[in-house]
Formats: sequence, structure tokens, C-alpha cells
Amino acid sequence: MTYSLAIHGGAGTILKSRMTNEAEAAYHAGLATALAAGEAVLKAGGPALEAVTAAVCALEDNPLFNAGRGAVFTSEAKQEMDAAVMEGATRRAGAVGGIFGPKNPVRAARAVMETTDHVLLIGPNALAVARAAGLPFEEAAYFFTQARRDALDRMLELKRSGEGVADPASRHGTVGAVARDSAGNLAAATSTGGMTAKSPGRVGDTPVIGAGTFADNASCAVSCTGHGEVFIRWTAAAEVSARMRHLGESLEAAARHVVMEDLAPNDGSGGLIAVDAAGNISMPFNSEGMYRGSLRAGEAPVTAIYGEG
Ligand code: ASP
Repeated sequence: MTYSLAIHGGAGTILKSRMTNEAEAAYHAGLATALAAGEAVLKAGGPALEAVTAAVCALEDNPLFNAGRGAVFTSEAKQEMDAAVMEGATRRAGAVGGIFGPKNPVRAARAVMETTDHVLLIGPNALAVARAAGLPFEEAAYFFTQARRDALDRMLELKRSGEGVADPASRHGTVGAVARDSAGNLAAATSTGGMTAKSPGRVGDTPVIGAGTFADNASCAVSCTGHGEVFIRWTAAAEVSARMRHLGESLEAAARHVVMEDLAPNDGSGGLIAVDAAGNISMPFNSEGMYRGSLRAGEAPVTAIYGEG
């Protein structure tokens, strides 16, 4: 049996100079928990789609990461969440934009894929679909974290004073997973609160299929994290697949090109995780760090935050 799984907890990492040993250990533990949740599915011979959903749910449930519980706040101090899933065998996909309520937005995205004829839902009907699927909902107190609220206040203050944000990565964060299961099928899932102090109604790349999330058995599964507007304009996730299909590039070459040559010079701070049909994994990023982790059948899981992307 052979399977591969990679996860990310966003490229908006805490600057290395400000990271404490305690916080670093907590991030590694959160990543390890998510890898274990995904691997449990793959080890039992389960589908990649289920594995990426399980891994992303674990990250959404962890308030350290910007998705589900612990999502960032809009400029009006609300939380609006985006999520998507895509299945490589069929290119079926589901996504939600700007929602608040479902405990696990990634499950709401799956409900869109599995119970409607649509790919992307927003507004009250996205919530109705999640409710009809029997998904758990939570109140504002569950999703709230003081750290994200403080980050909003800092960001609004910077905006008022006209100062730019020195580190673009400090505004964002996202969670995601990609997997290749033992049947050779690929899947991707991504979930985010978006960017701190975003405008109400702003939707990033995460739920835009081909931008923040993509999966196709013929090439790769991709989950992105970073400055969403740029990832949308460069169709980041689909571009990795296109380079593999049309140029015959390896997963690693295609993923690195998109992150380093397309996104980096164009204000596209961030990175992505990707897996191909052979189970190869690539995790390039052009920011200071990216919370990430990966494993392959029979190998020990690895988690990392900084270092070479
Ligand atoms: N890409 C996300 C967004 O723009 C944020 C992030 O990944 O950091 O909504």
C-alpha cells in the first residue's frame, strides 16, 4: 500500500524572531495531530478526499490556525470563512465563500459538492446546505480568539496611521491538505478565515477552484496559502497542473516555478503544497515560513515551520 499526505497551516507564520519555544512546540503538535487524522484514513485504505477532509478539520478545530476556530476578523470585526474541496478522479469540487456558523467550513464545502449541482455557494443557502447535511454549527464565542482580535486592532491602527504592513505574511494564514490514496486517487482541501482586516464580503483564492485549490488525477492536487488576490490572478493551483500537463515538468519544478517565478515577483507572498499521481510531494513557499507537514506510507511524519521552501 502506498499513500502520501501533505498539510499546511498557512504561510502567514509568526516571524522567527518573535517565535517562542512554547508556541513553536504547539504549532508542531497541531500539525502532527492533523497528519495523524489524515493518515488514519489512508492507512485504513480510505479515499484521499476523506483524508484531506479529516486533516483540515483537525486544523480548523485548532485555534492556532486561521480557519474555523481562530479565524481572523474582517475590518468590521466579523469572521467570514472560505473553504473548498476537490476530488482528482472526477474533478468534482465544492466550495463556500464568506460563511459563518458551520464548525468545519471544509465539511460545508463537501456538502456543496456532494448534495448540490453547484461548485461554489455563498450566503444563507450555503448555510442551509450545511444544515441539511446535518453538520454541527457553533456560536461566535467558539470561533473567537483574543489573539486574532488583537491582530485586527493592530492592523486597523496601522491603516489609520498610514503605515504599511512591513510583513505581508502577518495578515494571512490558511489551512490545507493534499493526498494521494492507495488507489492512486488525489484530493485537495483548503479552509481559511482569509486576511486580517479584509473588507466584508471579500473572498480570497481558497474557494476559487484553480486558484487556491485544485485536484486532477492526471497531474496533481494543490492547496495554496498566501496573498489571495494574487493567487487568483495567477490561477496558482491550476497553473501547477498546467505546467505538468503541457510542459511535462515534474511536480517539484512546476510548483516551484509558480511560487518563485509567478507569485513572488508580483506581491504574491505565500506558498503551496502539492502531491502528484506517483505520490511525490512538493511544498515551496516564498515567505519566511509555512506551517507544514508531510508523510508517505511507511515513513515517519515530518513537520516544519521555517527553512527552505
Ligand atoms: N489565501 C488566503 C486568502 O487570501 C489567506 C492565506 O492563505 O494566508 O484568503
